[in-house]
Amino acid sequence: MNEDTENLKAADELDSELSVIRLEIARLQQIDKKIRTAVAAEKKKLADLAQKIAQAEAARRKFESDLKHAEHKARSSRERLSQARTPKEAEALEHEAAGAEAEAARLEEATFSALETEENLKAENDRATSAYEQWIPQQKETIKRTQLMMEEKQSLANDLEQERIAAINRMTTDLRDTYEWLVKEYGAGRAISRLDGSSCSRCGNVLVPGLIDKVRHGEEQQRCPNCSRYLML
Ligand SMILES: [Zn+2]
Repeated sequence: MNEDTENLKAADELDSELSVIRLEIARLQQIDKKIRTAVAAEKKKLADLAQKIAQAEAARRKFESDLKHAEHKARSSRERLSQARTPKEAEALEHEAAGAEAEAARLEEATFSALETEENLKAENDRATSAYEQWIPQQKETIKRTQLMMEEKQSLANDLEQERIAAINRMTTDLRDTYEWLVKEYGAGRAISRLDGSSCSRCGNVLVPGLIDKVRHGEEQQRCPNCSRYLML
């Protein structure tokens, strides 16, 4: 095998390996992103629940405080009613007391309802927190493992890239330029083509016997007249 062929084969093999590793890295990156997105979504759910609980607590406290105020008002109206001097004054105070009592009854109901909402939210939060705590260790483990695998693949890719640079640098300028053009045109690891009988295995073009002979003798690098790839045995 002549030197050009050797260098082309080496570069093509390295490009093949690199494209596989880059795909694997991209796949790992997708897994990593998917898990991180899921973790962020679960954290957000818990944060939203905590916010809802805080809002429910604040609403319940407001109802409790309004209830105390209404109860006080009702009591004081009743006290004054017992000291009413005229029927008209008694009627007005009776009206005021009844109003305050009705308001207190409404607020009491609202307080209970708010308390119920709050308790339901807290129960939901307990369930969600417990589910999250059971779920998260596995996710963290997967993130860690994926990260490690990505680092390993990246380090391997870096080594292969160095080897590729060395293989490319061993080529003549013409060969290098054409090879890089073919890589751009067809993708990494697809720049050379093996003979498939009397055809180019990549594009299927039937080659003339004279060209096949040249490829067999391998003195000078031959290219497919149709797809321009370097032809090899
Ligand atoms: Zn071809």
